[in-house]
Amino acid sequence: MTRERVPMSAPWITPGDIASVVATLRSGRLALGPATAAFEKAFARLVSTPHAAAVSSGTAGLHLAVLAAGVGPGDEVVTTPFSFVASSNAFVHEGARPRFVDIDPATLMPPPAAIAAAVTWRTRAVLTVDLFGDPYDADPVLALAKKRGLAVIEDACEALGSAYKGRPAGSLGDAAVFGFYPNKQITTGEGGMVTTHRAGWDALFRSLRNQGRDVHDAWTDHSRLGFNDRLDEMSAALGLSQLKRLGAMVKGRQRVAAMYSERLAGVGGVEAPRPLPTTTRMSWFVYVVRLAKGVDRDRVMRDLAARGIPTRAYFSPIHLQKPYRERFGFRPGQFPVAEEMARRCVALPFHARMPEKDVAAVCRALAAVIAPSRGARRR
Ligand SMILES: *Cc1c(COP(=O)(O)O)cnc(C)c1O
Repeated sequence: MTRERVPMSAPWITPGDIASVVATLRSGRLALGPATAAFEKAFARLVSTPHAAAVSSGTAGLHLAVLAAGVGPGDEVVTTPFSFVASSNAFVHEGARPRFVDIDPATLMPPPAAIAAAVTWRTRAVLTVDLFGDPYDADPVLALAKKRGLAVIEDACEALGSAYKGRPAGSLGDAAVFGFYPNKQITTGEGGMVTTHRAGWDALFRSLRNQGRDVHDAWTDHSRLGFNDRLDEMSAALGLSQLKRLGAMVKGRQRVAAMYSERLAGVGGVEAPRPLPTTTRMSWFVYVVRLAKGVDRDRVMRDLAARGIPTRAYFSPIHLQKPYRERFGFRPGQFPVAEEMARRCVALPFHARMPEKDVAAVCRALAAVIAPSRGARRR
């Protein structure tokens, strides 16, 4: 195994972040305390929603949003097959069936008109995914949902700090979900947040994450069947400290993305990502390039790895994952654009403080390894 010359991603942890976590540890209050409340309040202000409920992961948040939307056995949820598997697992666990809509090759997301066409009488919700930090074109889907009485869940796990037509990602649907895994824009180690304009949904999230206990319930009384999806105080303290630097983190990501795009403009066979025209601020979760048709992406990844450059295949289509094939009978060829893009897309090393020399090294290596297969194809 070759040693990695550049890291795939890197959380940005400051002495201030560490001091916040240590102070929380010293306070003796390690769960259900002031750090969680302060993190939620700051988060809601940033996303422009009246409510934000901290949870133990983005995945847990998606599950709670699915429950609030009333999704259950026999229901369908219209969504994209080109996402992280958690976005669909959330409702499959509740007995609902995915109604996948193939993606537009330009945006890598389902066209809003195709989402409208996929809605049936069984559809309970639309689950949009803000892919790689790029907010989904939500307005047509919000209008459709209003007309058809559907819930809209926004998987904004990759889009903290992005904006759609001037509105923050995570403020668009009935509920939106964020994740704070270490490669996301901000991290709490593990953690997540559910934002909503609906007071009733927020109360439900707070109850469900806490074993189903309602605000008026006594310590061991529980009004509904709940979970332990709480975020602990150390994670919340880290999240609040990180959130204060979100502006700098997004600027850093934009700087790195711009360096990549400039350098890759001169590399044949590699297409740089282009955010949607409706995206008014892009916070860049990952930097995913598309290789030209005919380039052996897996060979390129192996050759890069041999040169110490890690990469990731983003994404492997959800419908072709084993549990989806087995449970729903999905087969290759059903969502051809998602499948082709899954074969051609690759995420390059990316984080907010990536030095220019690392970006240059990645681009040089990519140019060198892509040349043979391009040549072989032409001759
Ligand atoms: C990261 C991510 C999640 C899950 O977040 P976790 O905090 O890791 O559970 C869900 N959906 C998408 C699209 C993601 O990128």
